[in-house]
Amino acid sequence: MIRINEHYLKLKASYLFSDIAKRVTAYQQRHPDSPIIRLGIGDVTHALPKACIEAFHQAVDEMATDTTFRGYGPEQGYEFLRQAIAENDFKSRGADISTDEIFISDGAKCDTGNIQEIFDINSRIAIPDPVYPVYLDTNVMAGRTGAFQDGRYEGIVYLDSHAENQFIPDLPSEPVDLIYLCFPNNPTGVTISSDQLKKWVDFAVANKAIILFDAAYEAFIRDDRLPHSIYEIEGARQVAIEFRSFSKTAGFTGTRCAYTVVPKSLQVTTSSGDKISIHDLWNRRQSTKFNGVSYPVQRAAAATYSNAGKQQVAELIDGYMTNAALIRKSMQTLGYGCVGGENSPYIWVSTGQDSWGFFDMLLEKAGVVCTPGAGFGNCGEGYIRISAFNSHENVTTALARISQALTP
Ligand SMILES: *Cc1c(COP(=O)(O)O)cnc(C)c1O
Repeated sequence: MIRINEHYLKLKASYLFSDIAKRVTAYQQRHPDSPIIRLGIGDVTHALPKACIEAFHQAVDEMATDTTFRGYGPEQGYEFLRQAIAENDFKSRGADISTDEIFISDGAKCDTGNIQEIFDINSRIAIPDPVYPVYLDTNVMAGRTGAFQDGRYEGIVYLDSHAENQFIPDLPSEPVDLIYLCFPNNPTGVTISSDQLKKWVDFAVANKAIILFDAAYEAFIRDDRLPHSIYEIEGARQVAIEFRSFSKTAGFTGTRCAYTVVPKSLQVTTSSGDKISIHDLWNRRQSTKFNGVSYPVQRAAAATYSNAGKQQVAELIDGYMTNAALIRKSMQTLGYGCVGGENSPYIWVSTGQDSWGFFDMLLEKAGVVCTPGAGFGNCGEGYIRISAFNSHENVTTALARISQALTP
C-alpha cells in the first residue's frame, strides 16, 4: 500500500501570508475607496536593468537560428557566467573562489532547500529564529525533526536572535553539524562583522560542522567594513557553502537565476573514515537532478557584470536603500526602536505589543501592510518587518500615513 512521506504532516501550515491576505481583503471590503500600500512583500518591484534586458533579447534571438541555437547547457552553468561571478563577486574582494566552484541555479530558495539532502539524516541542525522558513521546512520534510510544539520543532537547535544579542545569535552551547546563517538577514536586516563571522567559522572548524551561508542580500551592504562573502573570512573555504541570488540584487525574482559556491576544499569524513569532497557530491546531485538555467537567463545575469550593468544595478539598489533609510528614520522619529535598513532592504521594528496587533492597527489606521514578526519564528513576536521594496512615491505616502496614524 502506497504511503506518503509523513514528515510532511509535521509541517506547520504557514498561515502567515494567507492570514495577511485575508486581513487585507477584509480591510479592502470595509474601505473600498482607500488604496492600501504594501510594505510587507519580500519581492522587488522595479524592472530589470536595461543591460540585462538587452542581453536577454539578444540571447533569445540566438535561439532563433540553428547556427547559434543552444540546447542543454552545462548543469553547473555556462562558463561565461561562472567566470564573471568568480572575478567580480569573489576575487575582486580577496576571496579565493574559482570558476568551477560556482554552481548556477534557478534560485537560492531551491539551493538552500536542496543542499540538506547530501548530509546525513541524523545531522544536528542549527537554525536561526527569526528565520527565512525554507531552511527549517526542508529539514522537517527530510525527517530531521520531531513534532511542532509551542512554535518550535523538536530536534532543531534554535539560534535565538533578539535585542540582547543585537540580533546576532550566540554560538550554540552544544555541538551541531549544519549551521544556517543569513546576513544581511531576512527578516531582521541585521549584518554581521568579519570578527563575528570569524567566530562562527572557528566554531565550525572546531566542531567539524558546515556553515550554510545565505548572502542573498549582500548587494545591499553599504558599510565597507562588512564582509559580503563568508570566504572573506580565513578558514571559511574549509567549512562554508555560500548561496547568492540575482533575485534581490538585480530584480530577477521572476526571471530566476542564482548560484551556490561549494569550495573544493570542503571535505567531510565518512563513517568508514574516507574523506569525501562536498563539491563532488553537490556536482553529482545537480548533474542528476537539475538540467541548468536557460541560456537567455544566464546571459541576462552575466550582463549585471558589464560596466553598464554594474551601474544600473547600483542605481536600482540605491533606490531601494533610499526608501529603507526613510522608513528607518520615520519609525525612529515616531519612537520605535529599529534595526536593519542600513545595509539591507528590511527594517525590523520593535512594536511594544504583539506583532499581529500592530499589523492590524497599521492596516486599519494607515492602510499600510507590513509583515508580523511572529510569522518568522518565536523570537519575531513583538516585531514587524517593513520592506523597502516599493516605489519611492508609495513609500513616502505610506510613511506620511503611518506618521499621522501613530502620532498621539
Ligand atoms: C529572497 C531570498 C532568497 C532568494 O531566493 P531566490 O529563490 O533566488 O529568488 C534567498 N534567501 C533569502 C533569505 C531570501 O529572502
